Amino acid sequence: MSTLTIRTYPDPVLKEECPPVEAVTQDIRRLLDDMAETMYLNSGIGLAAPQVGKKLRLIVVDVQRGKQGDTLLKLVNPRILNKEGRTKSEEGCLSCPDLLVDVSRFERVTVEALLPDGRETTIEAEGLLAICLQHEIDHLNGVLLVDRLSSLRRSLYRKKRLRENAASTPKDDESQSPPRLL
Ligand SMILES: [Zn+2]
Repeated sequence: MSTLTIRTYPDPVLKEECPPVEAVTQDIRRLLDDMAETMYLNSGIGLAAPQVGKKLRLIVVDVQRGKQGDTLLKLVNPRILNKEGRTKSEEGCLSCPDLLVDVSRFERVTVEALLPDGRETTIEAEGLLAICLQHEIDHLNGVLLVDRLSSLRRSLYRKKRLRENAASTPKDDESQSPPRLL
């Protein structure tokens, strides 16, 4: 396995709608493993393929971050079948550093997807898992947390990111990652 580089806003790959995966091949399984490793290394609870520069409908999610047995989900072509209720919480994103946004989501979702072995699965999710699945599926449709900001806040954040990317100084405090990076 190897770790991948996380793309950050305003990288254009994050704005694109990803096409479905046609066949779950060995390459796809390898990419899912690398995505999971990259997610854990960056203290994330979810990661979508465009966040590592791949235009494919693939996500990995582990809201327990491996702390309570094997709760890692590796999903191909995930799709929301049913949704119910509303909930609001603060979300962060590995592709939008130093940004936390209050987001309104469905409280419960049913998600259909393929597993790495090609079998179909249906996941009934609520709470943080439901939020995380919706956040990652947004990524597959080119939707980012910044799209939920007012145009003024978005433009300020964009300028800040461009300035920081240009300076590209390494962060001195990597250990202080904000909660809920998806
Ligand atoms: Zn994200």
